Amino acid sequence: ARGAAAARDPTINSGCATPASVRQQQQMSGLVPPRQVGLDVEVMRAQAALDGCSTDLEKHRLLVTLKETNAAAFAALLQGDLEGLLPLVYTPTIGAACLAWGSLLPRPTGLYITSADRGKVDQVLQHWPSDEVRIAVVTDGERILGLGDLGAHGMGIPTGKCVVYSAAGAAPSWLLPITVDVGTNNAALLSDPLYIGQPQQRLRGQPYQALMLEVVQGLQRRFGRQVLLHWEDLAVRNAFSVLQLSQGAGVPTFNDDIQATAAVAVAAVLGGVRVPGVLPLAQQRWLFFGAGQANLGTARLLAQALQQQGLTAAAAKARIWMVDSKGLLLNTRQDLTPEKAEFAQSPSNLPGSAAAAAAARLVQSSSSSSSSGSGSSRSSNSQDTMQRLAAIVAAVQPTALIGAAAVQGAFDQPVIAAVTQAAAAAGGPSARPLVLVLSNPNSKAECSFEDALRWSGGRAVFASGSPWPAVTVQQAGSSAASFSSIDSSSSDSAYISSSSSSGVLLRPAQANNCLVFPGLGLGAVQAGAAAVTDEMLLAAAQAVAGMVTAEELRQECVLPRIGRLQEVTQAVAAAVAAAAPTPAGSGSFLLA
Ligand code: NAP
Ligand code: MN
Repeated sequence: ARGAAAARDPTINSGCATPASVRQQQQMSGLVPPRQVGLDVEVMRAQAALDGCSTDLEKHRLLVTLKETNAAAFAALLQGDLEGLLPLVYTPTIGAACLAWGSLLPRPTGLYITSADRGKVDQVLQHWPSDEVRIAVVTDGERILGLGDLGAHGMGIPTGKCVVYSAAGAAPSWLLPITVDVGTNNAALLSDPLYIGQPQQRLRGQPYQALMLEVVQGLQRRFGRQVLLHWEDLAVRNAFSVLQLSQGAGVPTFNDDIQATAAVAVAAVLGGVRVPGVLPLAQQRWLFFGAGQANLGTARLLAQALQQQGLTAAAAKARIWMVDSKGLLLNTRQDLTPEKAEFAQSPSNLPGSAAAAAAARLVQSSSSSSSSGSGSSRSSNSQDTMQRLAAIVAAVQPTALIGAAAVQGAFDQPVIAAVTQAAAAAGGPSARPLVLVLSNPNSKAECSFEDALRWSGGRAVFASGSPWPAVTVQQAGSSAASFSSIDSSSSDSAYISSSSSSGVLLRPAQANNCLVFPGLGLGAVQAGAAAVTDEMLLAAAQAVAGMVTAEELRQECVLPRIGRLQEVTQAVAAAVAAAAPTPAGSGSFLLA
């Protein structure tokens, strides 16, 4: 690629920072501006452009433009302010970008494989320019964040994940974002002339499975058996079977939403129990709100962590209660998938008084319930959901609450108050409940940091998938404390000078799987692992929790700050590689 082609290549053209030697070698003189500067000036230029944007989505567009035109400046800008910029290129803004994908210009580069490519996926894979791919991030766009089926507009997720991988230290040439466009069942997109995917209903059943298997095998043929497959934002109906299908094909593979999310949630729990007042792991009673990929994965890994504490598998599961859209997972229900049935409990195990009487109310009769899927019918039910959840909390008496149902506001005042009371009943008046809010983006979150603190009287030890502002706690003598969020744009400086006399500053941990997946993927690749095992996930969780500093803990931030992505990734990768089975070892691990 020389001349104009080189000038269009974002890995060669770095604007005014393109070195003289490159300009000459690539025959680019005249095609880049005359002035020769250092990369720092290109970063200043990008920052100035960013400062001129007024909305997060505008900033996102600008950052995508920079990435697609000047990769060096983009990478340097990002490293300079990971904490501030990751939310713009990744969650939560990536959600808004996916919703606006049809009018997003330019869009980041990724590979689209469609159902029309069946039988010739190999050919499409040949079109990808890098031969060195080690990690492929693949979605079919059916459950994008908590936003539902966005079809091919879900491409923002694999491209965003790849941005995080490279920000965490992976070589960009190692990364391949893929959207398998099997159609969409989103009516609004199907009738939108700006929709970029195939305007047809989703492929289902055997043809879908066959296409996914062809993608897996095509990736192996093109990049070798060691290529790692990272699945992302599939719907729960396919997530477990696609994972098994690719495990069966003998590639190292993980589903981010099931497994990396589990590792970061367990890391938050391991960090959380380091906060004074939080009950030890084995003494907690857990209530999971949502029984989909994120929470089932987390419940499984948590059960492993509890077994490491000496509990039997049965005793571990007896401490874990789960709720789906129909109510509590009870073994009296006939409608549970095998993954859910693993965590179904007997109503007689409910600890709350009048439990048996209450149990009847905890499961919505199937006639009045809407089946889930696209997410569009949820909001009308949310009042219902919240009342039912409060009743469930009263019956289960959990000391820890983990939300991943994408129902905004589900952890309301009665729910948070009830879990706070239950923690006190289990561990004494000063015991503190764990509250994890995994749902993304913020508009789908079960509650905000500020509300969790206010409604628990400052007791809740909190972590959330999307970032919330820090909160100052004003302690007015012995009377009730007051809680106020810090303007997010100033939270960073407030964080640094947190010991001001005007109150105690608390910073919410971000339980985003970006603390785990880059190290999980890179560690598995480094070790040449034939599979991604539960041992590797638990090692990742422990590594993340072990990175939390005393200063972070003092502010009740139970996970390392996102700005520490590179050092956290290195620690996770090392721990994961050490826990990996050798390539010759037992390679046929199945999650289930
Ligand atoms: P999923 O597999 O679709 O699961 C959603 C679960 O929520 C299902 O079990 C569903 O019930 C349940 N649900 C829906 N409405 C409910 C209601 N009104 N009451 C009780 N339960 C309800 O989705 P997922 O992959 O687990 O993701 C869920 C959320 O977690 C999303 O917002 C996603 O963005 C977020 N997430 C965060 C991270 C992170 O790193 N923080 C990672 C992955 C996912 P049914 O089973 O009955 O349908
Ligand atoms: Mn995801």
